[in-house]
Amino acid sequence: MLKCQRCGEEAVYKRIYSGEALCRRHFLKSIDDRVRLAIKRYKMFSPDDRIGLALSGGKDSLTLLYILSKIERAFPEAKLIAITVDEGIKGYRRAALRIASEACEKLKIPHHIYGFKKLFGLTLDELVRIAFEIGLKPRPCIYCGILRRKALNIASEELKLSKIATAHNLDDVVQTYMLNLAHGDIYRFITSGPVTESKFTGVPTRVKPMVLIPEREVSLYAALMGFKFQPTQCPYTGSSLRSDVRVLINRLESKHPSIMFTLLKSFEEIANNLKQSVESPKVRKCSVCGSPATGDLCKACELLAKFKV
Ligand code: SF4
Ligand code: ZN
Repeated sequence: MLKCQRCGEEAVYKRIYSGEALCRRHFLKSIDDRVRLAIKRYKMFSPDDRIGLALSGGKDSLTLLYILSKIERAFPEAKLIAITVDEGIKGYRRAALRIASEACEKLKIPHHIYGFKKLFGLTLDELVRIAFEIGLKPRPCIYCGILRRKALNIASEELKLSKIATAHNLDDVVQTYMLNLAHGDIYRFITSGPVTESKFTGVPTRVKPMVLIPEREVSLYAALMGFKFQPTQCPYTGSSLRSDVRVLINRLESKHPSIMFTLLKSFEEIANNLKQSVESPKVRKCSVCGSPATGDLCKACELLAKFKV
């Protein structure tokens, strides 16, 4: 029997990259501690923050909700609010919404839902359908990313949030760095890390408190805690360059355990050095909605204009 190195009980997990074997209790504690470490290391929160947690209803965001709600209890001046963005993806989002609402009710966390249809007049499914009709190659993940960011900005303004916490784990953050390199987008590369302060006034800082936790450990945490989470994948998953980057990094990690932590550290250092020399885009106001923009229109209005909404 493999024993926990901290207490001698039966181990449920062996960390290949550190050699550590842990029982259920110490594994769960180690994950909570990693979140606390990330918050401290990257100075993610102030004691009086109003934190909006982007809650999809998947295992990652439910895990973050649970851990942050525990941490929040020690900071009576802080406020945690969950936000679910409903993109309007048939057969996928409805189950996740119910799971997210139930989890918030259980933990007594206020929960707000922002839907693409109500905010922008179209669901993601409708955008994809129209793209086909007007002869464009549909790019659902691009539309989704742009409009979700806008939806979260609208939520931040309405709910007076000072931070947005997302459940990106170690794998996600490393993938994002690599993806932006692959796109040749250096400005995005330097803003891919665990804390992204916006150049735009009124847009809250985005933080990723699970940046030090590999995806498989988040999955194990959710399973050991018995979280009910959205079991199906988004039907648009797999159509993006991110999927190829994910496969590449997973292959590297399986042959060279801990390479993801090394990549994270290297990317952070490169990004920090580059920050001095990369000029940030000039801030303007979108001529349609007044949101911060780098051109005449913000990305969301630019996208919606193509679909003539
Ligand atoms: Fe949005 Fe793409 Fe993720 Fe689906 S897979 S939720 S379309 S980003
Ligand atoms: Zn706009």
